[in-house]
Amino acid sequence: MTETGKSPLFPTYARYPITLVKGEGSRLWDDTGKEYIDLMSGIAVTNLGHAPQAVKEKLVEQLDQLWHVSNLFHIPNQEKLAKLLTDNSCADAVFFCSTGAEANEAAIKLARRYSQKVLQNGRYEIITFNMSFHGRTLATLTATGQDKVKEGFHPLPEGFKYAPYNDIEAVRSLVNDKTCAIMLEMIQGEGGVLPADPQFVQDLAALCKQENLLLIVDEIQTGVGRTGKLFAYEHYGIEPDIFTLAKGLGAGFPIGAMLGKAHLAEGFSAGSHGSTFGGTPIATAAGIAAVETVLANKLPERAAELGAYTVEKLESKLAGNPLVAKVRGVGLLIGIECTQPAGEMISEIHKQGVLVIPAGPNVIRLVPALTIPQEDLDKGLDIMCEVLARKAAASAASAG
Ligand SMILES: *Cc1c(COP(=O)(O)O)cnc(C)c1O
Repeated sequence: MTETGKSPLFPTYARYPITLVKGEGSRLWDDTGKEYIDLMSGIAVTNLGHAPQAVKEKLVEQLDQLWHVSNLFHIPNQEKLAKLLTDNSCADAVFFCSTGAEANEAAIKLARRYSQKVLQNGRYEIITFNMSFHGRTLATLTATGQDKVKEGFHPLPEGFKYAPYNDIEAVRSLVNDKTCAIMLEMIQGEGGVLPADPQFVQDLAALCKQENLLLIVDEIQTGVGRTGKLFAYEHYGIEPDIFTLAKGLGAGFPIGAMLGKAHLAEGFSAGSHGSTFGGTPIATAAGIAAVETVLANKLPERAAELGAYTVEKLESKLAGNPLVAKVRGVGLLIGIECTQPAGEMISEIHKQGVLVIPAGPNVIRLVPALTIPQEDLDKGLDIMCEVLARKAAASAASAG
């Protein structure tokens, strides 16, 4: 349903006809009292479920102390969250912001500035990939390899080139004396839950070393345990120079981060980049609590196990369903590729009380909380599979 003419909101979203008013764990309720099982987590944001106690406690404690101070002062929570992230990743330095697009914007700016100020090679081009998604600011929508997000926004910033995903020769052919970085998702989320091939990622990392390019990994959807590792690059045996986080980082509180290797710190200096709301005491309190909870409860391991279980269960329940082409997933980022556009099926699944979302043109995407109770997951999957079975039976009946 689109916004009505009467809404005072810009019509930037095609909203479902559902108004959610309360959430607890992996259950949500709408304004009529109807209950839903949440298999989408606000699109990979509420990774600890709704209103998780540990994060709520830290937030309330911080709300009583101090909400906001300028980044012209030291913010201990920022240092603490940065230490937590760098202790548990290949990165050594962190810049905090509030959203994913801003985190990628910071990555793009750092790659350019490091090349121009430190390496002094004048390079600025970044190679990204078809079907990628990197955000909605002018630079990040330009980095995004999908034309639909660019329509009407020209002229776009210069300096981006696009390669087919998983095609190392195509990437090689785009590298020139202006290239400073390659940026990609390890699993394209919005694009349709498409994982990068391990060999491709290793070849990319080698190419970056050989050509002295920065490897930037967009972990905004895949980070903080979602894929069965704390960060998805860990599946590939590589270390990015820069990676970005947002969605799951604050368990529902807005926070983003751009992380990089120590030598890149030289690329920025005081005044070269900043954000009023970047890493406020409250946002970083949420981030600390969220990351500590993910680590203490071994949620990446749980995501790996539950994800494998889910794919297996879906493969067996959906076997022979002509609407389903393939089930694929890494941890709890799971896609059901359909043989036709999935919009109508998704609306029917919502009607039956299970929240899922699309990805790409034909994919039903499941991104449940990493903490989802087994019973909720099973019930949600059963209801969804019943809808798909009924839809398949109905279309067979109408065809024959
Ligand atoms: C959601 C997303 C973004 C954009 O994040 P915003 O917080 O909406 O700006 C960027 N990259 C990826 C991979 C995403 O999934």
